[in-house]
Amino acid sequence: MSLTGDLSPDEFRAAAHSAVDWIADYLEHSERYPVRSAVAPGAIRAQLPASPPQQGEPLAAMLHDVEHTLLPGITHWNHPAFFAYFANSASYPGILGELLTAGLNANGMLWITSPAVTELEAVTLDWLRQLMALGDGWFGQITDTASMSTFYALAAARERAGFDVRTKGMAARPELPRLRVYCSEHAHSSIDKAVIALGLGLENLVKIPADDQFRMRAALLEDAIAADVAAGYHPLAVVPCVGTTSTTSIDPVTVVVRIARRYGCWVHVDAAYGGVAAIVPELQYILDGVDAADSFVVNPHKWLFTPMDCSVLYTRDAAALKRAFALLPEYLVTQTQGDAVNLMDYGIQLGRRFRALKLWMVLRAFGQDGLAERIRFHCELAREFAGMVHFEGGWELTAPVTLSLVCFRLAPSGATEQQLATLNAAIMERVNARGHVYLSHTKLGDRYTLRLAIGNIRTDRQHVELAWRELREAAAAITQGE
Ligand SMILES: *Cc1c(COP(=O)(O)O)cnc(C)c1O
Repeated sequence: MSLTGDLSPDEFRAAAHSAVDWIADYLEHSERYPVRSAVAPGAIRAQLPASPPQQGEPLAAMLHDVEHTLLPGITHWNHPAFFAYFANSASYPGILGELLTAGLNANGMLWITSPAVTELEAVTLDWLRQLMALGDGWFGQITDTASMSTFYALAAARERAGFDVRTKGMAARPELPRLRVYCSEHAHSSIDKAVIALGLGLENLVKIPADDQFRMRAALLEDAIAADVAAGYHPLAVVPCVGTTSTTSIDPVTVVVRIARRYGCWVHVDAAYGGVAAIVPELQYILDGVDAADSFVVNPHKWLFTPMDCSVLYTRDAAALKRAFALLPEYLVTQTQGDAVNLMDYGIQLGRRFRALKLWMVLRAFGQDGLAERIRFHCELAREFAGMVHFEGGWELTAPVTLSLVCFRLAPSGATEQQLATLNAAIMERVNARGHVYLSHTKLGDRYTLRLAIGNIRTDRQHVELAWRELREAAAAITQGE
């Protein structure tokens, strides 16, 4: 019987070869595309049929549409002059891993449903731990994003606190104290979302002020926790950040852990972007104190050249995570498999993609030296860019350069914060609209700031120099009223 829809193996082989050729060309020449998509909202959708085809269509038609209809609506994260947000770029070994994952289509929900999925994940994450020079005793699992990893970590913290929210919920329980979570004012919004989703309530997320280098002020953390205890609240967790999103500042994890321990708080370290920098021997210090924490998250899909998506949650207390989430309906019961781990027990999702494969291939293809070399180079480029800004009249750096992100702006003397915000937003929009480079912004207090985030695997010195040229040209055009 031959039904329409799927390809024959030979058709697939031919189509896949040409798709791979296309990807290789695309990555070799991604600079021919504007980095940021220039389409208007709805423009892509308007070109697509509103209803599905009655009869199957040939693959060639779809590939044609990808190139001509969809590509204009792609912002090119793989473009070497992508400097917005934090880079996430795909290396060739990572892309191959992703392709093989789709081909195998293994589901690692239980150990027995693909032992290699579970065991390669354990091995790969243990390698990554060693690369970051952390001690042993960490249980790692891959999730889709840092947002999910942080949610799991705080779920484990809530479980360990012993209020049995798992069974009783949180509503209509007058005996429950307020459960408090602490992070710096520069923490990522994923902490807020986890607090929302866990029913803790945003009012119970305490934002601790930062110092002049955007690091959590540990003394104020201690004051906040002590005041909460005095008020009868329960301090649940502290979430310091290694590499904050706005400036890549690094919270004092060692001190935070010491304070948190006194109050029995779980410590979850958010190192989504910055953590992998510890692969560089001279940058290992950024994870000082993390070994004493309860959990931490790092995203290989950000600065480790692994295609979207791949976040890693490490925890010291896997038992708490398991108590928070494990359930065993009859249809998932398997014969005892020794100490085999069923990863479904450690989170929400049952089905599990074989994400470890691409990360394993990246780690093997680069080796510690290859990874360290790239990350070190990105930090060097950031320092060079910071130097250019620093020595150019009228421009200023707005935060210390700790890793590969530079915060800066044009700051002509005498301008108000409002004027500086308008001016720098206009410079950024002009640069981004030209399409040669793409950067983003943040606000540090009331100070509007541009961000140049270096982390794309294909970024070279010339791209950073191009960004600087584009910025100065845009600034000149705007200040001369063009
Ligand atoms: C990017 C980032 C996140 C969120 O990452 P997702 O994987 O997109 O959820 C959280 N925290 C920090 C510090 C980040 O840089």
